[in-house]
Amino acid sequence: MTKKILILPGDGIGPEIVAEATKLLDGLRTDFGLDIETETALVGGAAYDAYGNPLPEATLAAAKAANAVLLGAVGGPKWEPLHISKRPEKGLLGLRSGLGLFANLRPAILYPQLAEASTLKSEVVAGLDIMIVRELTGDIYFGQPRGIETLPSGERRGLNTMVYTESEVERICRVAFDIAMQRGKRVCSVDKANVLECTELWREVAIKTAADYPEIELSHLYVDNAAMQLVRAPKQFDVMVTGNIFGDILSDCAAMLTGSIGMLPSASLNEQGQGMYEPIHGSAPDIAGQGVANPLATLLSVAMMLRYSLGAPDAADRIDAAVSKVLDHGLRTPDIASPGTTTVGTSAMGDAVLEAMRASAG
Ligand code: NAD
Repeated sequence: MTKKILILPGDGIGPEIVAEATKLLDGLRTDFGLDIETETALVGGAAYDAYGNPLPEATLAAAKAANAVLLGAVGGPKWEPLHISKRPEKGLLGLRSGLGLFANLRPAILYPQLAEASTLKSEVVAGLDIMIVRELTGDIYFGQPRGIETLPSGERRGLNTMVYTESEVERICRVAFDIAMQRGKRVCSVDKANVLECTELWREVAIKTAADYPEIELSHLYVDNAAMQLVRAPKQFDVMVTGNIFGDILSDCAAMLTGSIGMLPSASLNEQGQGMYEPIHGSAPDIAGQGVANPLATLLSVAMMLRYSLGAPDAADRIDAAVSKVLDHGLRTPDIASPGTTTVGTSAMGDAVLEAMRASAG
C-alpha cells in the first residue's frame, strides 16, 4: 500500500535541506520503485507568517493522516519577539503531543571519515554507533504538582515531580529492546535507582520487560556513571534507554561526541509506529539562504523514516551506504570540511548522495 509522507520544511535552512531529502525520495520512487506519496505543509515561523499560527489545524490533520512526517527545522530571530504561544517551537511541541510521540530515537554515529571532527581522541570515537532511546512524554517535565509557590514564611519554593507509571516504562523499554534486536542486542537502562524511587520502579519494570527478550543483554547504569562512561568509552554502548530528563542530557552529550551537528538524525515514534523524523540541529539562521547547510542529517533522517515507519529497511541501507561513500570520496559541506577534502554546497551534496545510491544499484 502506498505510504504517505508529510514534508514540513519549516524555517531557516529547513527548506534547503528538505529540498535535498525530497530529491532523494523522488529518486527512490522512480529508480527503486518505493511506493510513497508526499505532501508538503507549513509549520513554525513560516506557518505563523501565512496563517498566524505555528501549527495550523490542516498541518496537524495532515500529520495524523500520514505514515511519517519529515521536518526540516523551525525558529529564528524574526519570531523571537512573539508571545510564547505563537512561537515556531510551539508548532514542534504541538506535533509531538498531537501525534503522541513518546519515543525519541537519537543515534550518535561518527563516520570513521569524520573522526577528527570530535573533540575526543579519534580512537575513542571513530566508528561510534550508539542509539539513545529517550522517553519523551512523561517524567519531571510533565509531572504534577509543579510550579513556584510562596511558603507561609514568605520564602518561595519551586517544585517539579518525577513520575512514571509501569506501562509508560514498559512501552519505552519495548521500543529499545525491539531496536536492539535489529542491532547488537545490548541495552543499557539508565536510572538513578539508588536515590529516586521513581527510577527504582523504572529498573524493576525494565528487568521484568526484558524477560520477553531472552536474546537481549540488559545492563543498568546510574545516570552519573552513564555520563562518565559516555565520554570515557562510548563505544561500549549499543542501545541506551532512559527517561525524559536523563535522556535529554545524555543524548546531547552523545551528539557532541561526534562533533558534527549537521550529521545527526532523529526519530520520534508513537504507539502505532507513526513517526516524525528530523535532524537534531535547528534552523541555523546564521547560514540560511547561503546554500552551504549540511543536508546529511536530514538525508539520514529519511533513512530512519524508511526503517522505522515505512517498512523499507533496504532503502534505508542504500541511503546509509551512499552517505558513507560520498564521505569516502572526500566531499564535505563547510561544517565538516578538513584539509584535503572537497568543499561542496547543500545541493551538490544532495546530488552526490543520490548519484552514489544510483551507482550502487549497478
Ligand atoms: P542551530 O542548530 O540552528 O545552530 C547551531 C550552529 O550549528 C550554528 O552555527 C549553525 O550554523 C550550525 N548548524 C546547524 N545545522 C547545520 C547544518 N545542517 N549545516 C551546517 N551548520 C549547521 O541552533 P541555534 O542557533 O541554537 O538555534 C537556531 C534556531 O533554531 C532557534 O530559533 C532555535 O529555537 C531553533 N531550533 C530548532 C530546532 C528544531 O526545529 N528541532 C532545534 C534546535 C533549535
